Formats: sequence, C-alpha cells, structure tokens
Amino acid sequence: GERALIARREKVLGPAYRLFYEKPLHLVRGEGVFLYDAAGEPYLDAYNNVASLGHCHPRVVEAITKQTAILNTHTRYLHEGIVDYAESLTATFPEGLSQAMFTCTGSEANDLAVRIARFVTGGTGIIATELAYHGLTSAVAEFSPSLGESVTLGPHVRTVPAPDSYRHSPEEMMEKFGRDVRAAIADLRRHGIKPAMLIVDTIFSSDGIFAGPRGFLKPAVDAIHEAGGLFVADEVQPGFGRTGEAMWGFERHGISPDMVTLGKPMGNGYPMAGIVLRPEVIAEFGPKARYFNTFGGNPVAAAAGKAVLDTIRIDGLQQNALDVGRYLMDGLKDLADRHPAIGDVRGAGLFIGVEIVSDPATRSPDAALTTRIVNGLRERRVLISASGPRANVLKIRPPLVFSRENADMLVDALGKVMAAASP
Ligand code: PMP
Repeated sequence: GERALIARREKVLGPAYRLFYEKPLHLVRGEGVFLYDAAGEPYLDAYNNVASLGHCHPRVVEAITKQTAILNTHTRYLHEGIVDYAESLTATFPEGLSQAMFTCTGSEANDLAVRIARFVTGGTGIIATELAYHGLTSAVAEFSPSLGESVTLGPHVRTVPAPDSYRHSPEEMMEKFGRDVRAAIADLRRHGIKPAMLIVDTIFSSDGIFAGPRGFLKPAVDAIHEAGGLFVADEVQPGFGRTGEAMWGFERHGISPDMVTLGKPMGNGYPMAGIVLRPEVIAEFGPKARYFNTFGGNPVAAAAGKAVLDTIRIDGLQQNALDVGRYLMDGLKDLADRHPAIGDVRGAGLFIGVEIVSDPATRSPDAALTTRIVNGLRERRVLISASGPRANVLKIRPPLVFSRENADMLVDALGKVMAAASP
C-alpha cells in the first residue's frame, strides 16, 4: 500500500524530497482538470500550472508521440522544427523580443539569463525580490531567497520587497517598488558593484501572489536601465496566457523586458524552457560565448511546444483564463464576505492568491488555519497549495481549461472547509 511506497521512497530518494500533504496523494493518472489516485478517485486539480492545457492533452500527446518515432537529436544539425517553433513563439511577443534560446528547465533559463546579463553589461549585481524563487542552479539559488537556509544570497545580490497590495495602497505601490529598486542599486554601487540585472517574477508567486497595480513596474525598469543593467521578466509561472489579459505577465505593465525566461507550461509537461530576448542583447554575447544544450529545443520539445501554442490559440485559453478567472475571483470574494478569515483575494486570470488571517483588522497571517484548509480541500478532493512569506496564502493556479463548473466546485468545497476549519 501507500505506506510501503512512502517508506521505499524515503529510503531511496532521501530527506530533501518533500511530499505535499500530511496524507500524501498517490497519483496514477491525469486527464483534463482531474488527477486520479490509486483507488481511481478523481481530484480537481486547481494547482498544476504545468499541465496548462489539461493533463495529458491529446494534441500534445500526439505531437510528442509522432515526433519521437521519427527523429530526436540535438540542435547542431539543421532541423525545421526548432525554427518553426521559435518563429511561432516569438510572434506572441511584443515587437523587439524576436529571438529565442532553448533550455530544459526554468532554472537553466534563468542561469543563462544571468550569464548573458553579466557578459553584456560587465556588471555582476543582481536585484530580486525578498522571497523570489528563480531556480535551483548554484548561480540562480544565490538570488532565490525562498530556498531559505539551504542557500546563501550572493554578496552581489540585493533584495527588495514584493508589492504587497493587501498592506499598501495602489498609489503607494506605484511609487514604492521603483524607489526600493533605486535604493538597492545605490547600495550595490556603494559596495563597488555594477548592476547587471533586475529580475522579477511578474506575478510575484513565491512572494505571495501579487499582481500589483498595472504599470507599477515601469519606474523600477527605468531605474535598472539608467544604471546600465538589464531587466529580466521571469514568466515561468505567469506566462502562456495565465493572467488572461495578455500572453505574458509583463504586458500588464506597459514595459518591454530585455530578456524573458520561460518554462513550466511551455511543453504541457514535456520538459522545455527558454529565453526570448532582444537581438541587441544576444548580438554581443553570441559571437564570443557559444551556447549548446543537449536536450533544449530538440525536435520532440519543439513539437510539444508548437502543439501547446496552437492549442492556446485554437481553444482560446487566454480568454478562458480571463473569463473563468474573473468568475472564480467573484466566487471567492463572495466567500470572503462570509468568512472573516479570508483577508484578501487577489491575482490575475487563473492565478489567484487568497490570504488567510486570524483577524481581518490586524491582518495577522494564520499559517495553521491555511494548512488546515489545504488539507481539508484534499479530503474533499480539491488540490491547491499555500505560498507567501508567512505560508498563509492559498495558491490557486489551475490548468487554463478550468470551466465555470470547476470554479463552482472549488468555491463550494472551500466554503465547506472554511465553515468546518474556522475556530
Ligand atoms: N522561476 C519561477 C518563477 C519558478 O516558479 C520556477 C519553478 N517553480 C523556476 C523559475 C524554475 O523552474 P524549473 O523548476 O523548471 O527549473
């Protein structure tokens, strides 16, 4: 049974591999917005943003299966798939962001972005947010403070608070983030460090899921540019239509990044990631520093990626994220009116954070209640997670094919769990 499997897992994988839930979920199959456990019970997946098109989407399964039976090899031979895919991908970006480089994971994409930014600017300084997660490589872990004790932030790294829309007014936030970034730049300079880049997850996922007021990133981007650094948008979580309003999270802010890093839903589960950037940036790096990635952008990855982009377009998934996201947000706000422990409901499209507090007047975080809610939902066969600096923000990030009916199921289950879990 489950216990024996958990014991085998612990023995062979060791203690760093965590499982969700006090009672871990043993999954055997996925289809659409549902995951199925070993007993065949369905779970509504309101958490997985990798399977953005739904689990095991037939168009992606077919594309991968077909291509893997024909040819799969690295990128030093001429092959049409990667060119086709890069053209389709860059066509979804605003003008200027017209070149792509492919990796296998979001971490590698950010690792490559740092290397490029440092090479191009001649600087080493990096500015990121206080609880950002940008990836697992040694270079990227140095500016991923959410990894906690396992990493030491690099001496060249400065962090700034993410915009907390629950505790600051939109007017304050419009001004604060840019000011904080300017202060971080000044501090780097005081230590003789030239800034290479500012990197933000444009929906501040691990910082607590803050979409922020439209346009608030602009002053910060201007500041890093004035200081000779680059702006990198980490779209690993918000990208590929999740925010509903646009294909890419940064588009909400009327800014244009120098590099955009991508991952997670890019292959709907097939491991693929990459960078989209301005040709001027890579023009300096390319001829002097070669780039090779054994698996990144291989023919099977390109086929998977193309099927994902086609499906987002054909099935109108960005629009669905907007419509169902609004509907879900309204449902959650109605629930908040009835449950004072729900202090705030925020986000964009199908990326929603629900902040759980012990007292709405003081806005004091309630991590214990949050854990009870996440576990209670699992008992009702709905999967979400928790996030944020104090682990008290429900993280709701379902596949983009989520329907209004699915949203009703989630809100209904949350209402029942809140009623049972609140003291
Ligand atoms: N950036 C962000 C914002 C992420 O959320 C993640 C993964 N959680 C990464 C980068 C790293 O991606 P990967 O796990 O594919 O290396």
